[in-house]
Amino acid sequence: MIDLNMPEKVETMQNNMKNLARSMFRPISRKYDEAEHEYPKELDFFRNLPIMNKPKKKDPAKTAAPKKPAGEDGGAKLGANLGLIFSTEALCWGDAALLLSLPNAGLGNAALLAVGTDEQIERFGKKWIAMAITEPQSGSDSGSISTTAVLEGDEWVLNGEKIFVTCAERSDAVVVWATVDKAAGKAGVKSFLVEKGTPGFKLEKLEHKLGIRASDTGTFLLNNCRIPKNNILGSAEVKQGTEGFKGVMKTFDNTRPLVAAMANGIASAAIDFLKEQLEKTGAKLDYKKNVHNLDSVEKAYYRMEAELEAMRLLTWRAAWMADNQLSNNLEASMSKAKAGRMATLITQEVCDICGPVGYSRKYLAEKWMRDSKIMDIFEGTGQIQHLIVARNVLKLNSSELR
Ligand SMILES: Cc1cc2nc3c(=O)[nH]c(=O)nc-3n(C[C@H](O)[C@H](O)[C@H](O)COP(=O)(O)OP(=O)(O)OC[C@H]3O[C@@H](n4cnc5c(N)ncnc54)[C@H](O)[C@@H]3O)c2cc1C
Repeated sequence: MIDLNMPEKVETMQNNMKNLARSMFRPISRKYDEAEHEYPKELDFFRNLPIMNKPKKKDPAKTAAPKKPAGEDGGAKLGANLGLIFSTEALCWGDAALLLSLPNAGLGNAALLAVGTDEQIERFGKKWIAMAITEPQSGSDSGSISTTAVLEGDEWVLNGEKIFVTCAERSDAVVVWATVDKAAGKAGVKSFLVEKGTPGFKLEKLEHKLGIRASDTGTFLLNNCRIPKNNILGSAEVKQGTEGFKGVMKTFDNTRPLVAAMANGIASAAIDFLKEQLEKTGAKLDYKKNVHNLDSVEKAYYRMEAELEAMRLLTWRAAWMADNQLSNNLEASMSKAKAGRMATLITQEVCDICGPVGYSRKYLAEKWMRDSKIMDIFEGTGQIQHLIVARNVLKLNSSELR
């Protein structure tokens, strides 16, 4: 039987995160939206948290053990993925751009922990690592990247351009995707750990953005950038077929539900704000009221609440599946497609209903409307998520349905 009650420890953790978001993120939310690119120094508090700077080495026993599906050996579990989803939503209720600015929590850190060797985790584990996939001619179709990596003796030599990299300036290192064999297509795409300060690796510029302005986004140029041979993540071998690339893309099955949780956090902030504004005008939400007697604002409010519930359930399912070693490619994309899109619609409608209060920079509603848009763009746009859902449902591969 499905039990949708939150376990007590999860509820406590969620409340703690919400309190942190309220006391730490909200008070500086507007400040760093306006001071675009400036690092929020208040976040240094997180640098000292053990979870941020002491990544665990892999347990060989666990790595070697065959993965058990949910239900066996003690049944379904509520694990790290779901825990992270709840914290992410709560913190993004405070400010999504500040969450993206948390030290040592870049997308590259997730990739290092997912596929890095113990030696790489030892060398890079305490660093803040960004992830550079996108190029001027390659975004959604990440298998078509043209940055190259050529092995020369004990070094890889990287050349190319990477754009729209989150945490570009603040990070200490970047996971750069490059092809070791362009003719091999997706099979030739590999990822490499590149440290800041390496000759030939240059931060070219930072972007001025619509939303998540506290998060720094930039362009890198790689010009004969030489890195040690053992900075490749995973195997250098180019295997025929797309299995290797699928493995790299698997990181997204864990991170897309996280983006969905970010969207849920922003949407819930906007809905809470609307409720406060309605209560200020003396309106009282009465869930027992007959549906035929609801006014248009009440109707809109209840519909948004229901949408948020659907966004959350899809997100939780995707993360729960990851925790239980179930393949969640379909569910991860469903959660991001739904939450990314709905967050933009909800924040916009809240601004509509609130009128000048929604539009004014005195309040955060207009900021949430700007911040939410990125949730439907990065880590795969909404259209790309729909494509992945369609491929899963129709049982077609990426060359059969593009
Ligand atoms: C603030 C910000 C932060 C970012 N951070 C990072 C980062 O840290 N690292 C990184 O590597 N990238 C990052 N990106 C890049 C982001 O992941 C890409 O913008 C995104 O993947 C889309 O790629 P694109 O911009 O090249 O659009 P394109 O791929 O050119 O797509 C343009 C439009 O066409 C649609 N489209 C494309 N292909 C199809 C298709 N087959 N079917 C239907 N529609 C399609 C897309 O949905 C989109 O609407 C960031 C972007 C932004 C704005």
